[in-house]
Amino acid sequence: MASIFSRIVSGAIPAAKVYEDEQTLAFLDINPAARGHTLVICKEELPDLLSLAPEQVAAVARATQVVARAIVAALQPDGFNIVQNNGEAAGQTVHHYHVHIIPRWRGDRVLSPWRPGSATADELHAIAAQIIAQL
Ligand code: AMP
Repeated sequence: MASIFSRIVSGAIPAAKVYEDEQTLAFLDINPAARGHTLVICKEELPDLLSLAPEQVAAVARATQVVARAIVAALQPDGFNIVQNNGEAAGQTVHHYHVHIIPRWRGDRVLSPWRPGSATADELHAIAAQIIAQL
């Protein structure tokens, strides 16, 4: 069964499309967190960031910048968030790689991505060493 986004790519279901190229498609989120909330997807149905080929990562990043620039010009938000969820624990509901562009206006309070925590320098360096060992 094709994902809901693959069905948008094929034209089987409608979407408010704003941008398309060979590898990517962008359309407005059907349940927008803010005016102009847009999704940029990889046309190939791959679940998450780790599944993409480097060229696909680059293509989505490029399209995200193109579309974000147009959103800023058209809607003149005070800023915007780029959000990209991987896995259910991270809030991903559609398992077809996509990036959210969420325009923001001062004081809108539509998104609060995390609460700052704390860690000692030793803890940070220990985690850094674990990550570096996998690169
Ligand atoms: P995520 O939680 O990162 O997987 O985000 C999935 C997003 O897809 C949500 O913000 C939904 O509102 C959006 N969405 C689901 N179905 C559609 C659709 N048919 N057209 C546009 N956006 C959709």
